[in-house]
Amino acid sequence: MSANKNDANFEPNDADGPGKAGRQEVRLCREQRGYRARSPLSRLTAGPRWWLALRMSLLRWALFRRVVLAFSNDSEPARVQTPIPGGLGRRFRQWRDDAMFFCAAVEETGGWEPFRREFAQRIPALCYHHVGASVKGSWRLLTISPQVLQKQMRWLAERGYTGISASQWLAWLEAGAPLPEKPVLLTFDDAYSELLKTAMPVLRRHGFHASLFVVSQHLGGVSTWDAALGYPSLPLMSAAQVLQAQSFGIEVGSHTRSHPDLRKLSTASLRQELELSRDELSRLAGRPVRTVAYPFGCESASVRACAAEFYDLAFSCKAGLNGWGSDRHQLRRMFVHPSRFNFALQVKYGVDLHALWRFIPERAHRLWRQLALRFGFRRGHAAASGARRATKVWIMTRPSRRKAAGALTSSGAAEGDFVRASLLPGSDEIQPRG
Ligand SMILES: [Zn+2]
Repeated sequence: MSANKNDANFEPNDADGPGKAGRQEVRLCREQRGYRARSPLSRLTAGPRWWLALRMSLLRWALFRRVVLAFSNDSEPARVQTPIPGGLGRRFRQWRDDAMFFCAAVEETGGWEPFRREFAQRIPALCYHHVGASVKGSWRLLTISPQVLQKQMRWLAERGYTGISASQWLAWLEAGAPLPEKPVLLTFDDAYSELLKTAMPVLRRHGFHASLFVVSQHLGGVSTWDAALGYPSLPLMSAAQVLQAQSFGIEVGSHTRSHPDLRKLSTASLRQELELSRDELSRLAGRPVRTVAYPFGCESASVRACAAEFYDLAFSCKAGLNGWGSDRHQLRRMFVHPSRFNFALQVKYGVDLHALWRFIPERAHRLWRQLALRFGFRRGHAAASGARRATKVWIMTRPSRRKAAGALTSSGAAEGDFVRASLLPGSDEIQPRG
């Protein structure tokens, strides 16, 4: 900020006020490991990226800042007494103090860009599964072709993005460890053995890191959870292959022991899945495993609470970007589609049009259900439930399979991740497969 003539700092008018606190806060975050998570800077840097950028732009504008900070030129008692009465006055004073605190913190880091890199980084997390030739009869989003992966990694590299692993993100969260200029968190679920040939060399070529989420009791086996859903099983990495992937700079994370829907387990089984997989994989990797990806992306408040006992980070499958203020046990992660346009939206803005397409009918149903409960028209509610299910089946299945999907729905199995996830008992959220 100091390079900009509009970026005059707040001294000496704010020698003891929020400005000083802002500068001290930055120093405290740098000095004390673990303090960053509790710092008010996390609150001030939370929210959508556009809101942060707008707020910063306004504060950079000298006239706007003079108006906002008009009351800060006085002594402390006078500054507290703004002429705006009542609750509005209190809100204004709070907002003004936040603005002074925020701007001083930016000055302390040396400007907006260094501040963004140190405190306001927003990062997309991408979720891949199998990379290889398409598998007949398989879930349609399970496989990405090697050519698509190569194009996507080249697209990232050409635009200055760098693939990172979950532990690099964790180091930034905890201690402000520097991240590359434009980080993207790359993850591969299930540890399919073919990844060693089709994905790892591509990542290595670009110098990208990634996280590999391994099902600890299925090393060297096959993906039985795919078979349970009526899809072909695919071979998984052995212990030696996981170590080989690790030598490529790929970090090992947990995907539980047996890939269950964690919401359906008893407390004892849930703890076992999370704790034992962490211990088994830590022994295999020779380093602590601190991250987990929920199987099928399915989680609940109790699952998150249990995951928090054993892991520092946990990934769901919801669209969006992750920041300092994100729930560390409900991190957002997006399925990768071959569409280059969708991929660009995911990486730049955390927007997943495919997820949005799933989201709209679900939200419409929820609104309808709330109205039904509010006004007591249960018959309408029941009709809405049927309409909701029918809409899901219609939208998420290809025309040639709509008929079959409808039949499968009634028998408890289904075609397509969306339909399948919506049929999992207790599923109130639309959860894609993970
Ligand atoms: Zn999985």
